[in-house]
Amino acid sequence: MNARILIVEDEAGLARTLKDRLQKEGYAVSTARDGNAGMDAATREPFDLLILDVMLPGQDGLTICQKLRQLGSNAPILMLTARRQTMDKVIGLRSGADDYLAKPFNMVELLARIDALLRRAGPGKTSGPVRYQFGDLQIDIRSTEVTREGRAVALSAKEFQLLRYFVEHRGATLSRDELLREVWGYGGQPSTRTVDVHVAWLRQKIEKDPKNPQLILTVVGLGYKFVA
Ligand code: CA
Repeated sequence: MNARILIVEDEAGLARTLKDRLQKEGYAVSTARDGNAGMDAATREPFDLLILDVMLPGQDGLTICQKLRQLGSNAPILMLTARRQTMDKVIGLRSGADDYLAKPFNMVELLARIDALLRRAGPGKTSGPVRYQFGDLQIDIRSTEVTREGRAVALSAKEFQLLRYFVEHRGATLSRDELLREVWGYGGQPSTRTVDVHVAWLRQKIEKDPKNPQLILTVVGLGYKFVA
């Protein structure tokens, strides 16, 4: 799968240039124009790498970087700044950023840094935030705690793994075969009926009205989709 990159940059021209160029390189690119939208995007979707401008309207790039690290995200972060002082570099890296590039920069240099960061992170080693909130539902991936309306929801290990897979692939239609393969593994599981049963159990526990699910939707003939 193509690496997903989020660019948070308020200079529209630069953001567009970066997006076009990175898309040509085969990356899946999203952009946000200010700090709040950037933080929102970064905590809503999983990205393999983030490019954060330091000076942003709303919250600045360093703040976003620190918050994401506190949330447990380990996706590589490349900071962009208009200022060249060494001090900025130190602050940038202390904030949890992985690399730093001063504007104006050479596009080839940027591509090389992105390539190096993604290679160092390795496929599948990066992850999104470890805590998610969807309405009243809170999911902490690291502690495996799920709460709804502030009350703990008791899930079996398999239910939690299924929920986690849904959350980390939210918005995507997931076939029963994929869920069986990714959540149960090739362990001689008898049938895709197993998936349906676990989805039903999960809905009982996390949906307000399990008969009218708002989070785990059935996609007729295809599988399921987690929507937030
Ligand atoms: Ca800026």
